Amino acid sequence: MNFEDTPQEAAFRQAAREWIGANAPIELKAELEAASVGNLVLKHMDPMAASKAWQKKKADAGWACLHWPTQYGGRGASAIERVIWGQEEGVYSKLNRPFGIGQGMCGPTMMAYATEDQKRRFLPPLASGEEIWCQLFSEPAGGSDLAGLRTRAERDGDDWVINGQKIWTSGAHYSDHAILITRTDPTVAKHKGLTMFFLDMRSPGIEIRPIKQVNGQSGFNEVFFTDVRIPDAQRLGKVGDGWQVSLVTLMNERLSIGAGYQTGFPELFELCCTLETGQGRAIDDPAVRSKLAQWAVRASGLKYTGYRAISAVSRGEMPGPENSIGKLVGGEMMQEIAMFALDLQGQAGVISDTASAMDNGRFQGMLLRSPGTRIEGGTDEILRNIIAERVLGLPADIRVDKSVPFNQIPTRARG
Ligand SMILES: Cc1cc2nc3c(=O)[nH]c(=O)nc-3n(C[C@H](O)[C@H](O)[C@H](O)COP(=O)(O)OP(=O)(O)OC[C@H]3O[C@@H](n4cnc5c(N)ncnc54)[C@H](O)[C@@H]3O)c2cc1C
Repeated sequence: MNFEDTPQEAAFRQAAREWIGANAPIELKAELEAASVGNLVLKHMDPMAASKAWQKKKADAGWACLHWPTQYGGRGASAIERVIWGQEEGVYSKLNRPFGIGQGMCGPTMMAYATEDQKRRFLPPLASGEEIWCQLFSEPAGGSDLAGLRTRAERDGDDWVINGQKIWTSGAHYSDHAILITRTDPTVAKHKGLTMFFLDMRSPGIEIRPIKQVNGQSGFNEVFFTDVRIPDAQRLGKVGDGWQVSLVTLMNERLSIGAGYQTGFPELFELCCTLETGQGRAIDDPAVRSKLAQWAVRASGLKYTGYRAISAVSRGEMPGPENSIGKLVGGEMMQEIAMFALDLQGQAGVISDTASAMDNGRFQGMLLRSPGTRIEGGTDEILRNIIAERVLGLPADIRVDKSVPFNQIPTRARG
């Protein structure tokens, strides 16, 4: 592992730092620093407008989607330059949230499977934030077991007709386009009868219903399809190859490294240094110090695991399944830390309204968001399975329905 920048990397870092220093919305810095995890709330500006303005500014200057080819709105930068950019962008990267799924997963899938004309039409506005994309994968019967999905696509002339339901679709309510995985053949094994498309989220027959979350926000949705028509020209990959296409999407999830996983540890340390508990500052209490020491060890383990992944990227390698460790440990840690911080705050800990809660309610925000972090992009249990099978080489999970035709897999409805 080498933590030092090469001379080229150092020059790139300097250029990025200078541009960010001269162009970032400094007036939002304090609010962004105080913002907790989850959807961004700003006092004097619509967060979406702030996000779009920052993204467009970056795109106009060649700092958007750095590792994408220039003809599709990127900079043609290396993977390590992208990581360096993420480190330098720092707190302003909180403005990138609406674009994460589109740029991180849908864009690379389009890059791999769309036609040249489609790439030139759809990728530049995705890079500049002028168009937003979402990912229509999960369903009530297809989450961890994505291949169990039931949304149907049936061929009708030059179109496909879609019927079914997706759920937990982040950002569907403000997205312009989406990638969608469907079942086109229920008579073959579940992984084999799937087909991927992209579509306009304003197509007739799409109904989007927001889901209200425990933190009061509505970041994700149910999406219903009733006879929605998609031209065959918007198919990504061959008919029946949707599982392979989805692996490209999911593999790109792993590449979202560099920004690191939020654990809440620096925020907790700061709180303990200032909080008076009645017997002096929290940091002077031996029980608090012991807890902090345990989390400090885990936080530094995560930091160096992240550096290991960055070093691999720097050598031109793909980050491996060991990247699952970051989300697994970070998500759990954030939840534990938030609970501990609220205990320390005593009665004030129950106030979650950002205007009156301590520290702008950052720990309350963490507590309410962390269960979602532990589920999205692979639950804790699924990540443990990945680490067990692909990192430690332990025997694989038992998959009894793997080779059974999808329409013969017993369901409760069929009795
Ligand atoms: C904040 C958030 C945003 C999301 N955004 C999107 C999005 O934009 N697009 C999208 O398509 N989806 C999205 N999702 C959905 C997400 O991908 C699924 O919730 C996730 O894959 C889990 O699926 P599930 O909810 O159906 O749970 P299930 O798969 O039904 O799991 C239920 C429980 O069973 C456990 N379990 C399941 N299988 C196994 C196994 N083999 N071994 C051990 N335990 C197992 C799970 O760990 C979990 O505890 C989002 C979810 C969240 C929380």
